[in-house]
Amino acid sequence: MRIVTVIGNRPQFIKAAAVSQLLRAEHSEILVHTGQHYDDELSEIFIRELGLPRPDRELGIAGGTNTSQTSRQLAALELVVGEITPDLVLVYGDTNSTLAGALAAAQAGIAVVHVEAGMRSFDRTMAEEVNRVVTDHLSTLLLCPSQVAVDNLAREGVLGTVELVGDVMADIARLMAPRARERTQALAGWGVEPGGYVLATAHRAANVDDPQRLALLVDLLTAIELPVVLPLHPRTRARLEQAGLLGALESAPTVEITPPLGYLDFRTLLCSARAVLTDSGGAQKEAYFAAVPAITMRDRTEWVETVETGWNVLVDLDKDAALAALERPLPSEHPELYGDGHAAARVVSAISSISALGS
Ligand code: UDP
Repeated sequence: MRIVTVIGNRPQFIKAAAVSQLLRAEHSEILVHTGQHYDDELSEIFIRELGLPRPDRELGIAGGTNTSQTSRQLAALELVVGEITPDLVLVYGDTNSTLAGALAAAQAGIAVVHVEAGMRSFDRTMAEEVNRVVTDHLSTLLLCPSQVAVDNLAREGVLGTVELVGDVMADIARLMAPRARERTQALAGWGVEPGGYVLATAHRAANVDDPQRLALLVDLLTAIELPVVLPLHPRTRARLEQAGLLGALESAPTVEITPPLGYLDFRTLLCSARAVLTDSGGAQKEAYFAAVPAITMRDRTEWVETVETGWNVLVDLDKDAALAALERPLPSEHPELYGDGHAAARVVSAISSISALGS
């Protein structure tokens, strides 16, 4: 089959890296990069480190509001899909690129495969939630990372075929774990010791776009007594600068700001951290894979299993709750929640059987 895969941002490069090579062994894949994340730190490095094939098309569409970005991507993808006439379009996760890819395909009468289907935060103020819900309802084949995702889709009565495949990010995490572990000595470069620091990331619109919330975030990060390594997302850096808050963070003696890191550096830091303090979906999960506790700076999460098993605590931007969460003992159980590291193979075999679905 001829398959157009649409990717656009950092987590999608990681997810596509897990699937692309296996997919190409059986099908012809045309990788289309919308351009949502375009700089080296958020894009190129993942192609180099994770062996993601170089995109065949780069649309160069970034910036603007979610609506404007999605609509420009949709218009460009309509042309790509019209020209390539693929048998199906494969999309990942919950970004504007996901929605634009799914909609362009559905409107052209082409089957949509959604990897990481069924995730819900039940918070429709999040652009990502809107993207997920609409994409799932447009999809022909919905490939879920967890049983909770399957159950969510059953409740919503989606029309497509739903399958539990596991989490493709877990595949990459397993694959890269030995290399990340070998690099523990690199921690000295960030001035930290194993188990003696917190790895933090923050970039969700709800935390960084409102200056008052951003001030709470700075307050929380600077209240932690342990060293905090903070690979700073460009969006967050820009918002901190606009709000005049970057200086407070830069001058905090415990906060070590770094540029966004490559996958390996990030994993190396994550695996040896005392805790991961984050508003990222991917980082919550990766903390779980590495059996490192997560403290999530949101009031809900799609990855509910991590909370139910006690490995993740939702603190929103409540400083005291975050400090208390850091003191919690580790849970004694660590069940395998997101598959056995072979989710990508299941994605490919589900795709290969799609012609039998009569799409
Ligand atoms: N990540 C990285 N370097 C960083 C921060 C994150 O490689 O400096 C990786 C990490 O593996 C994480 C993934 O990017 O799981 C997703 O990141 P992001 O927080 O951008 O997206 P989200 O998961 O919130 O959609």
